[in-house]
Parts: sequence; structure tokens; C-alpha cells
Amino acid sequence: MDKKICIIVGHGKSKSGGYDSGAVSRDGKYEEFKIAKEIAKYAADYLGCSLMNYEGNLYLTDRIKAVNRADYDFVAEIHLNAGGGKGTEVFYYNGSPTGRKAAEAISAEIAKEFTVPDRGAKVRLGKNGKDYFAIIRDTKPTAILVETLFIDNNAELTLLKTDEGRKRCGRAIGIGLEKALGTQRMTEAFSVEITANSLYIRSGAGTGFKSVGVVKKGETHAISATDTAGVWGRLADGRGWISLNSKYIRRI
Ligand SMILES: [Zn+2]
Repeated sequence: MDKKICIIVGHGKSKSGGYDSGAVSRDGKYEEFKIAKEIAKYAADYLGCSLMNYEGNLYLTDRIKAVNRADYDFVAEIHLNAGGGKGTEVFYYNGSPTGRKAAEAISAEIAKEFTVPDRGAKVRLGKNGKDYFAIIRDTKPTAILVETLFIDNNAELTLLKTDEGRKRCGRAIGIGLEKALGTQRMTEAFSVEITANSLYIRSGAGTGFKSVGVVKKGETHAISATDTAGVWGRLADGRGWISLNSKYIRRI
């Protein structure tokens, strides 16, 4: 069964309910939240997975609650780094092999994509010995925090000023996660005709996910993504996933 992933945008809303830009560029013109949300969107598009806080309407504790109410297996929050430095690094939950593997893979992909230093997978603990980042510490699924590039490093900021750069960064995150988790990804869209009398639509790519509807014999449906094994397809209309087993469908 494939993992249910959610990509989360860092910042956007402050504790008091106002706007939280996150870090800003040295010239004050570029804000972390506004760049991170586009990178996150491209990563979620690439993976065909959920995206949270694109509108910046969730404060940190709201994001944690939303994650814990859902049934994700894995979440990644997207940030830009600041404070003087260069390169990319990804934080993971202390002691989580899956988190570490994903963090290493994403850091390596971003470093390769932009030819920046690979600072690698990291753990950051608070004074009490627990994980420092709440989005990592207080969420139920395996969680990582991606510090893509430094917003206060002008050479790195330049890489993320364009839509193309943000897309490359999002894709690098998606590719890293795909390598680490073996998750679903977007493919060339194709259509199928349903040959079974009826076939369950499921909320995720596997029979372990709950059924959320049915498709019926003779119907044709566009598929916008498959899992890595190519045995489950996501309906382009967004209703969920169906089996691509040739016993039930025919590719057209
Ligand atoms: Zn941040």
C-alpha cells in the first residue's frame, strides 16, 4: 500500500491571527511563506498528494491539529532557511529511520538540482531533549521539516525567484520522497474503460483505504496519477483511486 503524504506550507498565519511571512530576504522584498507555498504546491502536484496551508490560513498549532485529525502516513513542512549560511538541510524526528531516509534523500536531491551544499539530514532537540520543531514533535505521522535554501543568501534566493526555480525545487522534494518512500507520482494522464460490473473508488492507493464510491461497467475515466507499481490509478476528477488490474479495467 502506498503512503498517504501531505505537503505543508510553513508560516502564513501568526499566533495572534495576523500574517506571518517567515524569514525575509536581505532587501526585504521576498518572503519565506510566499516562496515556500509555491514550492510546496509543486511538490504536492508532482506526488499527486495533499497540500496544506497554501492559503496561509493555519497557524502552527492549527496545522498540527489538522495533521492529527487526518490519516496521513507522512508529512513534510516546507521552509526557507535564514541566519547566514548556504545549502539545503532537512530535519526529521529523532530516531525515525523513515524520517531520516526521507530527509537524506530530499536534501541530496535539492543539493544536486541547484548545485548547493548538501547539509543533509538533521535532528534538532530542544533543552528538554525532545524534538525542537513542533510540527515534527507533536504530529502523529512521520514528519520532516525541509529547509530548502537560504532566503538571506542572495545567490540561493535568485534560484527561487522564478516560478521555474520553485518548480524545480518542488520536483526535487517530490523525487526525494518518491525514492525514500516509494510513493505514487504523477504520470502522463491516460484513460480507462471499466470492464467490471462495478469497482470501488478508494480514498488511497490500496484495498486498505476506505471505499468512497464506485465506478461502473462501460464508463470511461481519466487517470491523473498512479502508484509506483502502476497498479492503482487516481481518478482525474479527484474522487479517489481505483485498481488498474486488467481484470477490472481496460486502458484506452
Ligand atoms: Zn520557516
